[in-house]
Amino acid sequence: MSYWERSSTARVTASARPRKLAKVPFVELADGRLQGVVSSGSDAGRVYVSSVAAGTHAFTCSTNNNRPCGGARGSFCNHIRSLIAESVLQYGAGRVARYLKADVADGEPDAQAVTAAMGAVRPPQGDSTAAASVFSRFLHHLAYLELTPVTAPLPEMQWFPPTRAA
Ligand SMILES: [Zn+2]
Repeated sequence: MSYWERSSTARVTASARPRKLAKVPFVELADGRLQGVVSSGSDAGRVYVSSVAAGTHAFTCSTNNNRPCGGARGSFCNHIRSLIAESVLQYGAGRVARYLKADVADGEPDAQAVTAAMGAVRPPQGDSTAAASVFSRFLHHLAYLELTPVTAPLPEMQWFPPTRAA
């Protein structure tokens, strides 16, 4: 175990398989959704904020400037498909399927099976207000990368409980 894993207060869960961050820089199972940020295939300056809700599989996809994705009309666009594929690498297909309540066949599913099971219920278009909160969570995570490594306490992290009794 590396030093940062041992010293982390939260349990560090390793990726099921390694991911390529360039295509899908951010993916998480949170707020009752699979949600994340997907790079545009054609424009390096543009990203899509995509999500699929647990249970209903209601989906949303829009740009970081809140323009709706042209591909996400009536069915999952390629961004959402990439998001599902990357979430399977990150969390494993079984965990993604359970979180989203996707009706997959017994046994260990794969990304294709999870995508197909959710597409089969003809999911509705979701409410795109989620996009702003997903994007701000992403930017918040990015902000930590900008911090200069120091040993002084980070005021924002003070709500973490101490790891050892004094
Ligand atoms: Zn899209």
